[in-house]
Amino acid sequence: MIQARKISKTYGSKSNSVCALDELNLEIAAGQRVAIVGRSGSGKTTLLNILSGLDRPDSGELVVDGQDLAKIPASKMADYRLNSVGVVFQSFQLIAQRTAAQNIELPLIISGMVSRERRALVDTALAKIGLTDRADHFPYQLSGGEQQRVAIARAIIKKPAVLLADEPTGNLDSKTTSEIMDLLTELSDEQSLTMLLITHDLKLAADYSQVQFVMQDGKLSSMCEVDLAGQAS
Ligand code: ADP
Ligand code: MG
Repeated sequence: MIQARKISKTYGSKSNSVCALDELNLEIAAGQRVAIVGRSGSGKTTLLNILSGLDRPDSGELVVDGQDLAKIPASKMADYRLNSVGVVFQSFQLIAQRTAAQNIELPLIISGMVSRERRALVDTALAKIGLTDRADHFPYQLSGGEQQRVAIARAIIKKPAVLLADEPTGNLDSKTTSEIMDLLTELSDEQSLTMLLITHDLKLAADYSQVQFVMQDGKLSSMCEVDLAGQAS
């Protein structure tokens, strides 16, 4: 599902260059939930930006959802970002001038879906995240947890194969964190989503992912495979 081989990314030019990813390898199977933990500056967001098609590696091989991101033409990248990956950010990144329903609807508008079909999908999504009665509220009228629910609905409304979450609970209290992680887990199970969770929190990583990696100086090392209760052979 995600296959990265020897991915490198350096920012800046010779005199002030920063090597953010250093021949990084990563393999994630379809439907798997994987967490990456690591210090600030270790390259986590750089990796996520590359996986989401916001940025490109300088070198290496990268195949996501059957598409070769190292070679994909720029014209196809927008398509990839719209259909293959959903992204959830620490700061929610909702559009302030649009309501909850309108934020969730945006990817469907970009896809050219007709209004009636859009409304049906948005209504279903709002019910799923428990915010039907907040459909017409603007982000500033919603709590952090509610805003993140809307952002999650927007990220998965197109049923992507991969969900990338960069510190999705970094701005939330511990109770809301559990609620949001439970929702992400439920949705990823239901839609067989491949999920990559980036977090500072080792316990969160252990509780909500099947495999954990540590990012250090632009490289990943594996922590340990977690035996899921009852699935250990
Ligand atoms: P993390 O998400 O783990 O905190 P980042 O991927 O954001 O780490 O950053 C990795 C390294 O690359 C850091 O040293 C950071 O300062 C550097 N970096 C990130 N983005 C840029 C950029 N646009 N230009 C220059 N350096 C950058
Ligand atoms: Mg980061």
